[in-house]
Amino acid sequence: MALIVQKYGGTSVGNTDRIKNVAARVAKYRAQGDQVVVVVSAMSGVTDGLIKLAKDIVPLPSEREMDMLLATGEQQTIALTAIALHAINIPAVSMTGAQAGIVTDGVHTKAKIHNITPKAVHELLDAGNVVIVAGFQGETKDGQITTLGRGGSDLTAIALAAALKADLCQIYTDVDGVYTADPRIVPTAKKLQEISYDEMLELASLGAKVMQSRSVEFAKKFGVVFEVRSSLNDNPGTIVKEETKSMEDVVIRGVAFDKNQAKVTLVAVPDKPGVAARIFKALGDATV
Ligand code: ADP
Ligand code: ASP
Ligand code: MG
Repeated sequence: MALIVQKYGGTSVGNTDRIKNVAARVAKYRAQGDQVVVVVSAMSGVTDGLIKLAKDIVPLPSEREMDMLLATGEQQTIALTAIALHAINIPAVSMTGAQAGIVTDGVHTKAKIHNITPKAVHELLDAGNVVIVAGFQGETKDGQITTLGRGGSDLTAIALAAALKADLCQIYTDVDGVYTADPRIVPTAKKLQEISYDEMLELASLGAKVMQSRSVEFAKKFGVVFEVRSSLNDNPGTIVKEETKSMEDVVIRGVAFDKNQAKVTLVAVPDKPGVAARIFKALGDATV
């Protein structure tokens, strides 16, 4: 019997048929005796839609209220996934990030995880349930709802896998692995069987949105081996893990791009001690 954390992204839960498909996949693992924790994103388009609603009211809404708003996206999906599992006679309980014991700092819209106390998750698993956790969210120790930055459900899954000491962590998405370039833009891109944390981190931080870069940092720090694979087929995916000898021979693993970049140049910065510190402190304080 293995303890498996499975994360399903927005497209993989994009409509009720897809959610039923997730339930069927979870059922297969349960049938072989595994314990399954499912982390889900909001249905595709929901988070963007909520952001648009808020920005229709005011261009810079309060970050605390944005967290309150955006956390509802994942809350819809956890309940729908639990309902889909109940429909095929599998006991399942949905949990918000807070209920799953995910405690963060108070930096709204890009909170960092402080610690996870997964006692309630373990208890529900031991009682025979599939546990479905809302990705992308947590709460501060004072009970404020926070979110973990765009793409943050990846981080929820990796962090839960570490905290639960899971045997397997699977990231299900709409492509069947990590490719040498975005396969939607470069049709000749090749799927990688495996990739090291550092290479995945570089691709992610340079714009390959297949994994949130913070989640890859977390996986490297805690040694969480994970597989990126498709929720739409059974093809083997890409294993992300510590670099091995044979992986060292590859000089270039992939190419990333990012259309959403801004470059700000400060000119005439006085060449005096303390000036750079003043600039970077202000940027740091604003968590840029
Ligand atoms: P999810 O909603 O499952 O989290 P994302 O949309 O965040 O999925 O990430 C999956 C997308 O990442 C793919 O649809 C693909 O277009 C894009 N992508 C960018 N670079 C890569 C890459 N090198 N390999 C695979 N997918 C990539
Ligand atoms: N729903 C959030 C987002 O769209 C988190 C995620 O999907 O991982 O960014
Ligand atoms: Mg994503």
